[in-house]
Amino acid sequence: MTSDKIRHVCISGGTHGNELTGVCLARHWQSNPTLITRAGFETHALLANPAAIKIGRRYVEKDLNRCFHPANTTTDAKLLEERRAVEIQSWLKSRCNGSYPDVLIDLHSTTANMGLSLVLANCCPFNLMLVAFLKERFPEVNAYVWNEPKTQPGFLNSLAEKGFAIEVGPVANNVAQADLILKTGLLVDACLDFINDWNSGTVQLQDRDVLVYRFREHVDYPRAHDGFPAAMIHPQFQNRDFLELKTGDPIFLGFDGAVTHWDKPEGWAVFINEAAYYEKGIAFTVADKVALAINPAEFRR
Ligand SMILES: [Zn+2]
Repeated sequence: MTSDKIRHVCISGGTHGNELTGVCLARHWQSNPTLITRAGFETHALLANPAAIKIGRRYVEKDLNRCFHPANTTTDAKLLEERRAVEIQSWLKSRCNGSYPDVLIDLHSTTANMGLSLVLANCCPFNLMLVAFLKERFPEVNAYVWNEPKTQPGFLNSLAEKGFAIEVGPVANNVAQADLILKTGLLVDACLDFINDWNSGTVQLQDRDVLVYRFREHVDYPRAHDGFPAAMIHPQFQNRDFLELKTGDPIFLGFDGAVTHWDKPEGWAVFINEAAYYEKGIAFTVADKVALAINPAEFRR
């Protein structure tokens, strides 16, 4: 087995200033770097948006997790988060021999009932094997592939091919919830163990299929003429993340009592009633459940 050795890993938290799971862990690891130190590669802890953390908001002027593009320059950066993205990109390069880290894991939390989730921007063999490895240790882990190549959303973790966002919930914004913080810490530990195995060539997971939920579409709330949501997530649909959404199931309950039903083919819903997505026009996301093969040919490149 051959593999590209991992030299630099970045673990980031506080990309969204009101998601305390990542903020608490990144701060803890910045003060105690030996906790994320492993032989053979360097791990860098990043607190991504201190200005937003200070005021307890997702962002100050623009969602930082939509500002990362490999070719970003200071001249294009106008808003606070656009400038911070450029700063983070230079910071990463200064610590990773002039390029981006080999692996980037970005810590988030959600108000949706997503448990322990991994949100992948791509499905390279490394990522799929890491997902398989984590699912073995933590059977409750779900992987969601959010890949919209045409729009290039500009996620922080898209700067590195390898890695993903860890998204845990449900937890309210600005709340530090111990069980989720501890579990996220264990997931990151396991990721570092996997990287160790990867570097020593002992990963043996390439022959299996990995079950993932793959992005299909976003669904918005029905809206009143002024843009305010005209309905709520239906109580029977609330908290049903990663469960099957059948044609005919109730999805919205209007304030007048009217029920909206899902009228499309069956799917699996993710990010149901995520607080931060009201402004993005997303009431929930629908995914397809697919088994992806880890491609040995690609793996051996
Ligand atoms: Zn987030």
